[in-house]
Amino acid sequence: MNWATHEVTNQVPDLVDYNLYDSDQALRQGVAREGGGAHDASLLAYGAKLGEAASFALACDANNDKPQLEQFDRRGCRVDRVHFHPAWGHFMRQAFRQGMHCSAWEDNQMRPSSFSGVADFAAGGQVARAAAYLMHGQVEAGSLCPITMTSAAIPVLCNEPWFDTIAPRLFSRDYDDRDMPLAGKTSMMIGMGMTEKQGGSDLRSNTTQARPEGAGGRGQPYGLVGHKWFFSSPTSDAHLVLARAEEGFSCFYVPRWLDDGHRNAICLQRLKNKLGNASNASAEVEFQNATGWLVGEPGRGIATLVEMASFTRLDCVLGSAALQRQALVQALHHARHRKAFGELLINQPLMQSVLVDLALESEAATILALRLARTLDAVRGPSASRWHEDQAPRHQRSQTIGDGADSPSGTHNPAGIFAATPLDQAFVRILTPAAKFWVCKRGIEMAAECMEVLGGNGYIEEGPLARLYRETPVNSIWEGSGNVMCLDVLRAMEREPELADALLSWLRPQCLDDALLRQSVNDLRALCETKGASRQRVARRIAQDLVLLTQAALLRAHVPQAVADAFVSTRFGRAGRVFGVIGTPLEAETILGRAFNTL
Ligand SMILES: Cc1cc2nc3c(=O)[nH]c(=O)nc-3n(C[C@H](O)[C@H](O)[C@H](O)COP(=O)(O)OP(=O)(O)OC[C@H]3O[C@@H](n4cnc5c(N)ncnc54)[C@H](O)[C@@H]3O)c2cc1C
Repeated sequence: MNWATHEVTNQVPDLVDYNLYDSDQALRQGVAREGGGAHDASLLAYGAKLGEAASFALACDANNDKPQLEQFDRRGCRVDRVHFHPAWGHFMRQAFRQGMHCSAWEDNQMRPSSFSGVADFAAGGQVARAAAYLMHGQVEAGSLCPITMTSAAIPVLCNEPWFDTIAPRLFSRDYDDRDMPLAGKTSMMIGMGMTEKQGGSDLRSNTTQARPEGAGGRGQPYGLVGHKWFFSSPTSDAHLVLARAEEGFSCFYVPRWLDDGHRNAICLQRLKNKLGNASNASAEVEFQNATGWLVGEPGRGIATLVEMASFTRLDCVLGSAALQRQALVQALHHARHRKAFGELLINQPLMQSVLVDLALESEAATILALRLARTLDAVRGPSASRWHEDQAPRHQRSQTIGDGADSPSGTHNPAGIFAATPLDQAFVRILTPAAKFWVCKRGIEMAAECMEVLGGNGYIEEGPLARLYRETPVNSIWEGSGNVMCLDVLRAMEREPELADALLSWLRPQCLDDALLRQSVNDLRALCETKGASRQRVARRIAQDLVLLTQAALLRAHVPQAVADAFVSTRFGRAGRVFGVIGTPLEAETILGRAFNTL
């Protein structure tokens, strides 16, 4: 007699042992097109490594076994250590070896730059890093947080005369997580501390105080007293911290250990119990007269830290594109193996409509993210943070992150870079915050829809979608939440109308031959003219339309017509409110074949 109560059939094998790079035409072609082709072999190897079954298993371990805070040792002495699952170290080592924490700032041969003055931008370095980031985030997203902050700190710190003393460690590919003074370590990580209990967007509400230990001024030590409500990667070797000095809000380099071998007076109060991003530690901290060295000019702290934000915001776009991509391939994989009503899901017309729509969203996010990364490769220059000072009247300042409101001249370039053309500048100043708003929001919807493609199996913790779903909202919240991004878009357009003109002038000719796009770009131009209080009310619409039109223009220029046409017909005119509403384009198989092919 057969005592088996059931046979397991029609269940889908795990999607493992595939190359994340080779199977992603949008990514691989985009890297070549945007100037990162020299890095193809390295990215191919990284894509294979990340796609191994062991890699996916380690990612589960790193997230299931959350970091734990140890505040005191057995004698009652403060130690403020965080214990991670060993799998966390695996992903940090991988990311370091790939150079994602520094490679954007290395030279063409991927060697460290001269470590003095402004670091050279690699040719295609931002694009290659973006591609690696976009793959890493598909497998283990939490480890990207310290990588992002360390990378974004480099263009801020490289202007400091003492940068040479830390540069070799910042550019080291050896991940060294030993909790000890920097002098004995081979590499380092840097975090950032801005958000306080009473406000994260409104940084002018910060209360942390900094008092000079001597004469004060740039490069001088201060004592910091106060707190930070969010302080991710708390065991990083240093954080860039915003605190109020006599001259106004200033940025401080606050190391975890002091040169005399003592731990700096930074007390980790507790770790956040987060919805997602579970492998990464985010703490609440108090500074009990912690020592910090002033970075940049006194009183220009918000501007200095906003230099970091423009790079971290691009990483939010990349991180969301990564989550979208992994959700998509899991959905496609499932639909290619799972039958319902005697037919594979992938062959059923209504499911095709949903999957095509998801594939279009993912490709549009990827193409835009790589184009933004190329812009950062294209813009470089030593006069960094001064490139457009004195252009806006003081009264236009606002108090949210992104406005550089503490600049003596009233303006500051959040990218901290000298942009080559007005269009490049527009991509950095206007489109990057718009993309951070739009792509991150779309990622949340996409994760939910892809989860549903897997049916009930999508909703269980052991499956691949639950973690992706919980991870998506964080990219929309940190580094400036959605509304703050849209206000930043408006602010940039107001202060630098020539950049808005450059962007609209670039978009318009590309839209003329299509009635839907032509109408949309005309509507956008009219919306941009909105004045007064109503202007903020249309900010989300402006950001959304800017991104959609740019994505349409990029897709029409660079990808098969079937993909571009399907994007336009589903995003403009009678666009649906949920995925799959507009109906299956005739070329569904072409689009889905392009979206994910492991052969
Ligand atoms: C997992 C995680 C890790 C983090 N790590 C760090 C870190 O390492 N360092 C750090 O400094 N911060 C960190 N943060 C904090 C994060 O950057 C802030 O939460 C974020 O900037 C929003 O600030 P807030 O939470 O104070 O919200 P608020 O500033 O109170 O904003 C609340 C809401 O109001 C909206 N809003 C604000 N102003 C306006 C306006 N004028 N008009 C319309 N809407 C508005 C915002 O968009 C938001 O939706 C982290 C956050 C998370 C979730």
